[in-house]
Amino acid sequence: MTASAPTNVTTADDGADELVVELKEWLGENWDPELTVAEWWERLGTSGWGVPAWPVEWFGKGLSRSEAVRVQTTIAGFGALPAPGGLGLLLAGPTITVHGNDEQKQRYLRDIVTGKMAWCQLFSEPGAGSDLAGLQARAVKDGEEWIVNGQKVWTSGGQAADLGMLIARTDPDQPKHAGITYFVIEMNQPGVDVRPLKEMTGRAMFNEVFLTDARVADDTIIGGLGNGWRVANTTLMFERSGLGAGGGSGAVSLAMPGTVMGDLDKRAGDFVRTGGRSGANAATMFGAGARGLIEMARVAGKSDDPALRQRLVYLHTLGEVARFNNLRLKAAMAAGKDIPGLPNISKLSMSEIVRTSRDLGLEIAGPYGTLHAYDAESRKALDAATGMPQLAQVTESALFAQGPSIYGGTDQVQRNIIGERILGLPKEPGFDKGTPFKDLPKNG
Ligand SMILES: Cc1cc2nc3c(=O)[nH]c(=O)nc-3n(C[C@H](O)[C@H](O)[C@H](O)COP(=O)(O)OP(=O)(O)OC[C@H]3O[C@@H](n4cnc5c(N)ncnc54)[C@H](O)[C@@H]3O)c2cc1C
Repeated sequence: MTASAPTNVTTADDGADELVVELKEWLGENWDPELTVAEWWERLGTSGWGVPAWPVEWFGKGLSRSEAVRVQTTIAGFGALPAPGGLGLLLAGPTITVHGNDEQKQRYLRDIVTGKMAWCQLFSEPGAGSDLAGLQARAVKDGEEWIVNGQKVWTSGGQAADLGMLIARTDPDQPKHAGITYFVIEMNQPGVDVRPLKEMTGRAMFNEVFLTDARVADDTIIGGLGNGWRVANTTLMFERSGLGAGGGSGAVSLAMPGTVMGDLDKRAGDFVRTGGRSGANAATMFGAGARGLIEMARVAGKSDDPALRQRLVYLHTLGEVARFNNLRLKAAMAAGKDIPGLPNISKLSMSEIVRTSRDLGLEIAGPYGTLHAYDAESRKALDAATGMPQLAQVTESALFAQGPSIYGGTDQVQRNIIGERILGLPKEPGFDKGTPFKDLPKNG
């Protein structure tokens, strides 16, 4: 029996196509490369297309994650500048959408979707990384404000941030997970000292931040006093699902948001045509995957080496498994379900992909792998001098490859979470759950 599809049936693809048609129409009417970045992000952010997965009443369109990725890919494919990148859109906005009150949503979300404010995440401390609940930064009430003292570290983008997601201890008489509060802190104030930390890549992506009698207003508390651990876990959940292999968005904006180092006054079209800022980001560094390395092996005359071919196939397989897992998660989410532990697995998988890419890239590069370029100009020169078009990217990635298995929770911590929370294995023994924080032994 043959069957032809009835013409009145709407499939998921039809819906998605309608979405793309509507978006392209909107882009046709609104995208103008002559606008400044600020003007364009104002249009995009207030239209709902900038953050399509967010609720309609808060600058989104209430779309599913897969539809949102399709929107981002369409914007990039159209040749328009995507929504602002950074931790505002990735972490602060989604967290405030869940835990903020209406007044806070009004105050912060618009400036996030329009790129006016850049954010950083002030969680880790010298003695509190994996054991984040052991944090010692202290906030003490002073009228309508809180006075904060302490030190944060590994603060990515702290030198470019207007605002910070800050967790600090507000009640040391409570056990360590209680008595923590989540604040929004203004970074541009006398009590906040941001000191960049230079990495071996030559960049200073993250910072140490010293808080000395810094002030935060009482009405910046997100999710209620003493509720910071729950709110911070929401941020970390968004971080893991955003960072995992295959979990990234369809497009990353190369223009930077914020008033400190942002590109708001520059011509939007320049960030589309030339890629805007020189320099690597996660997408350009790890995006090449197996395909880029296969090409590099060909150029280096090594593509017939059976052992190398085997490992390139391993890398390709890892990428495919990550892609399928991502599709599984998207399908589950579209059906209103969840796959517990998958964000943790995705993050572990990303770490393995990055490590494998590093090792393979350096093996293909051979002695050239010892050459590193510190700026865009030298990167071009390096590629040209060696005749290896991927070399600068490979050595840059190799030096950064240690990072992904640490940030957003280390590989070991992801495995602990999967073991304890998903597989139900016994928790690590600990006496610290019910003891007041002030009575616990402290690091350093
Ligand atoms: C590139 C980069 C960017 C970052 N950006 C930010 C940022 O913007 N904001 C921010 O707040 N933080 C940031 N971090 C910090 C990051 O979250 C921490 O480095 C991470 O949580 C680990 O903490 P730690 O460095 O103190 O290591 P530790 O917690 O001291 O861990 C040391 C080692 O012990 C292992 N370990 C610890 N506890 C356990 C356990 N219970 N079981 C098994 N093994 C364990 C760890 O896996 C690790 O191998 C960033 C880190 C990097 C590398």
